[in-house]
Amino acid sequence: MTESLLTITDLSIDSLRDGTRRRIVEGFNLSVRAGEIYGLVGESGSGKSISMMASVGLAAQGLDVRSGTVNFGTRRFAASDQKSLRGNLSHGVSLLFQNAKGALNPFITVGKQVERVLRRRRRSDIQGELKELFRVVGLNYADLGRKYPHQVSGGQAQRVAMACALATEPALLIADEPTTALDVTTEREMLRFLASICRQRNMAVVLIAHNLSLVSEYCSSLSILHAGQVVETGNLAPIFAEPLHPYTQGLIAAVPDVDSPRELVPLIGSVWGGSSELDRCRFSHRCPHAMPRCERRIPPAVKRDGREVHCVLYEQEVSA
Ligand code: SF4
Repeated sequence: MTESLLTITDLSIDSLRDGTRRRIVEGFNLSVRAGEIYGLVGESGSGKSISMMASVGLAAQGLDVRSGTVNFGTRRFAASDQKSLRGNLSHGVSLLFQNAKGALNPFITVGKQVERVLRRRRRSDIQGELKELFRVVGLNYADLGRKYPHQVSGGQAQRVAMACALATEPALLIADEPTTALDVTTEREMLRFLASICRQRNMAVVLIAHNLSLVSEYCSSLSILHAGQVVETGNLAPIFAEPLHPYTQGLIAAVPDVDSPRELVPLIGSVWGGSSELDRCRFSHRCPHAMPRCERRIPPAVKRDGREVHCVLYEQEVSA
């Protein structure tokens, strides 16, 4: 098996707002191999983007990275040293966000924006590489290179953003809900394209998403987050075949299946509707199996079928 390209271990992040310290990510772990598309799934506010941004040195103001280590290739960093992470990972990691038109400069043609990224890498044949990069992302430079962001479609803007991301030849791409602003057809097209680029370049992708069915089509492994805690992680197939954590079960039960239609079961409550205290399962206010011991401590990780689940229902298996 290929060795891990990015390993995040025991990442914990506090929010410091209105004079109050609150733990918003607790013990986050993740391991991505070269060439793999790894899904990071959870509802809005579950800590997906915050965790990934902090792991590359881009924790937002008002956040305090309390603990954790980041291994990238053979290098190891303390997650709390955001400056060092930023400085060292900026050449190996690219980011792709959901609102490509918003991310592009409206006053500069799309060709110029990709060219600027190429120039930072001090290329020799900039124009040749620029045209090739447009071709790689499925765009014609002659048609689109001199257009401004408002003159291209949402799908084309996302491909331009992708060209900017690929111009640095990253080993890892963090794609944060990259298709949320696109229509369904363009979304599928974009993800198929991302998967093929990933294969061609042996580039790893962390695909941050709230859409579980989308992730199931493109990812080989995934982690599911709820309220800043990873609840289940591992290979995609066994998780979909037999979800163990009640939150994973709830997410899968809420996904429509066109091949065998069934009644959808919505998840009740919201991510932060319960207590934000540390030493408990943060899903207990939404869980149909909750019991008093769920609120006494963080559920331990249980290994089963090549994955990890954090729930007291499987606790006996820890000592077994
Ligand atoms: S630890 Fe308890 S509350 Fe949390 S998911 Fe498991 S059974 Fe539900």
